[in-house]
Amino acid sequence: MAKILVVEDEPAIADLILMNLKLVGHTGFHTDRGDKVLSDMEIYKPDLIILDIMLPGKDGFTLMKEIEPMQIPVIFLSARDELTDKITGLKLGADDYMVKPFAAVELLTRIETVLKRYKIGGGNVFAMDNLKVDLDAHMVLLDSCPVELTIKEFILLEILIRNKNIALSREKLLELVWGYDYMGETRTVDVHIQRLRKKLGLDDNIKTVYKMGYRLEVPR
Ligand code: CA
Repeated sequence: MAKILVVEDEPAIADLILMNLKLVGHTGFHTDRGDKVLSDMEIYKPDLIILDIMLPGKDGFTLMKEIEPMQIPVIFLSARDELTDKITGLKLGADDYMVKPFAAVELLTRIETVLKRYKIGGGNVFAMDNLKVDLDAHMVLLDSCPVELTIKEFILLEILIRNKNIALSREKLLELVWGYDYMGETRTVDVHIQRLRKKLGLDDNIKTVYKMGYRLEVPR
């Protein structure tokens, strides 16, 4: 998993991003001023940076020019949605540009894409009993035989694995797998959990947490 530095001066947005990074297994760090970014990079040695543009101390475009030679991937996350800003950001060497407000699931997906491009955080294989899940190759083996999962089933499984032994609410799973603005019901989560249990023989391991959600139980 990756170390991600979140450069953001709005505490609520920073908290939201950090919480979501943690849920999918990344380690997040936070910097709230532009002029602290370079020194914090020395300390945290991030694999990827999420960079706001309007920041106290130093703006994101200026920072991008300084970060670019270091070859660390950057995703801009800004309230500025002018096309010229996007083009400026990408021309300066950023890997992606997202506009606020944003859906957490979209940011997480874009982060994964950039990390894959840089081959960061590879070798993610989860194994338990007769089950083996290659999180990078999106491959699931049960007794060494491939199991076909839908994309949503796989994402759900991946989130359970990255948060093993931690209870996750249905609402949180719905948001992470289907997206923040998905119009479905938490019942959708139950249906997909049932399918995962059945396809992967995880009846005993995917526990129902009473009136809350689910937890993947893995022997420590
Ligand atoms: Ca800002």
